Amino acid sequence: MKNPRIVVDRTKLRENLAFIASKLTDHALSIMAVTKVFNAHPQVIALYDECPDITYFGDSRIENLMSYQNSKKQKVLIRLPMISEVPEVIQYADISFNSELTTIRQLDQEAAKQKKTHRIVLMVDLGDLREGFFEREELYDCIQEVLKMDNIQIYGLGVNLTCYGAIIPSSKNLGNLIEIQNEIKQRFDLSLEMISGGNSSSLYLLDSPTDILPEGINNLRIGESFVLGRETAYGADYEQMHQDAFTLAAEIVEIKEKPSYPVGEIGVDAFGKKPHYVDKGNMKRCIVAIGQQDVALDDIAPKDKAIELLGASSDHLLLDITHTKQEYQVGDEIEFSMSYGSVLSTFTSKYVKKEFIR
Ligand SMILES: *Cc1c(COP(=O)(O)O)cnc(C)c1O
Repeated sequence: MKNPRIVVDRTKLRENLAFIASKLTDHALSIMAVTKVFNAHPQVIALYDECPDITYFGDSRIENLMSYQNSKKQKVLIRLPMISEVPEVIQYADISFNSELTTIRQLDQEAAKQKKTHRIVLMVDLGDLREGFFEREELYDCIQEVLKMDNIQIYGLGVNLTCYGAIIPSSKNLGNLIEIQNEIKQRFDLSLEMISGGNSSSLYLLDSPTDILPEGINNLRIGESFVLGRETAYGADYEQMHQDAFTLAAEIVEIKEKPSYPVGEIGVDAFGKKPHYVDKGNMKRCIVAIGQQDVALDDIAPKDKAIELLGASSDHLLLDITHTKQEYQVGDEIEFSMSYGSVLSTFTSKYVKKEFIR
């Protein structure tokens, strides 16, 4: 059994890592490679592990951090810890991202139990409205309390943008992080090691003709750019990178001439939605053995541009191949280019095999 499968071109991925790594080190930025998009797959981790410029591995899930405990990279929990997972956080994460004093107190107690010092990065919300302190005074009050704790070290500040609110990073909003850092230095005489200025959406600032990454930001956390070869503020591809290091392949199980308009009374589809169809007469329809259980329809695009996506149920993907040059046969594979969502979901699906080439 080999299909459906995600095909990872190791050489292309290695070249992607090298390109971004040299870009960041040229700007004196440390690199946190975010491993959640490929579900911390051991073979991808092995390849990342060989990149000396990556200092940290970040993931939102403890299970993923647990899976690469043998790696020398520093392990960072980048989703705010659940109180119920505090023992595992102390055991498996060197650093965690935080915004709740209640949780930090629990981390301190558990770290004492395990005879460890746990490092935390305090998250600041600069407008994207996902995690982080929104009110500066609340942040400073929290710092004051954390400074009394014996087993917690405040390692730095972090911000996340372009995730919920789709806010674009700029010298203006990221400049706030530097202001806060200076205020912390003044009030508490506390120097911070890490000022983490965002994810793949902050990369464009390194080449922008109109804006800059503020001086003082010394770390970025990169997930998508390594994998898909583009920055994510505007979605621009890097010419020097590969957008096809990851490809999805799935197999044709039926090809037939059928109408484009369903026959009979229309109710609701497999997901309870009332569908809408356009009558284009008869077409050459093809069924590929993959479905919504593995990947969302919006997250894949056939590499053969003459193929049109018609729809999908949980296990069947329907394509219109009326206008393709290639004469597809049952048993042939169709290749798809991928997005963040499809890399994430296919790596998570146990039904999608993972193949590594080159
Ligand atoms: C997912 C995530 C990242 C990585 O984002 P990319 O857009 O994939 O680079 C960075 N930081 C945090 C907090 C995240 O949750």
